[in-house]
Amino acid sequence: MSHLVIASGNPGKLREFAALLAPLGLDAVGQGTLGIDDAEEPHVTFIENALAKARHASAASGLPALADDSGLCVDALGGLPGVRSARFAEGSSTGGRAEQDHRNNAKLIEALDGIERSDAWFVSVLAFLRHPDDPEPIVTVGRWKGAIVATPRGEKGFGYDPHFWLPDLGLTAAELDPARKNRISHRAIAMRQLAEALKLRGFVPR
Ligand code: IMP
Repeated sequence: MSHLVIASGNPGKLREFAALLAPLGLDAVGQGTLGIDDAEEPHVTFIENALAKARHASAASGLPALADDSGLCVDALGGLPGVRSARFAEGSSTGGRAEQDHRNNAKLIEALDGIERSDAWFVSVLAFLRHPDDPEPIVTVGRWKGAIVATPRGEKGFGYDPHFWLPDLGLTAAELDPARKNRISHRAIAMRQLAEALKLRGFVPR
């Protein structure tokens, strides 16, 4: 099995990535296990941040690396909150993740200023590097279309899910069964593309 470092400290993501990569013969280890700190994410695009994270993890570990960056892009806001999705409501960093999600959601609805529904995309970008100087990274982009609704619905999921309306399903992402979300989400789309690209490029057997 080939080894690979995942540039994330999020246990949920590490599990998802490990499950995707194991059938491909790739043994994924989280960067935290190797004592590698989180990289800076100074850029305004998901792609640049994903590449920066993967490069940092690959340089520190001497292994191929996979990183992701994701967020919500709302058409009426010119793509915001975008790379700032996790910390859209600045200022206080007190409280847990649920409180931060609540503040972010309140700020989003305030920013939409009465717009009842606005087209939006959850976006997930994955970047894979064979080594830190790899001139040909694999970059995949998963986009999941919905619409932001002012009234939240549903208790499942996290982040902006209660406001992310899926017109075809008649549900918000927070009303979706998690297993179903994991099959159709932005992350699922990007991950399927990554598996295909790794095979096409010959890094794993077909
Ligand atoms: P990260 O990929 O963990 O950095 O996620 C960035 C931020 O984007 C999260 O903190 C959420 O606010 C938002 N986000 C990304 N994916 C989702 C999702 O599937 N549901 C809801 N919010 C998401």
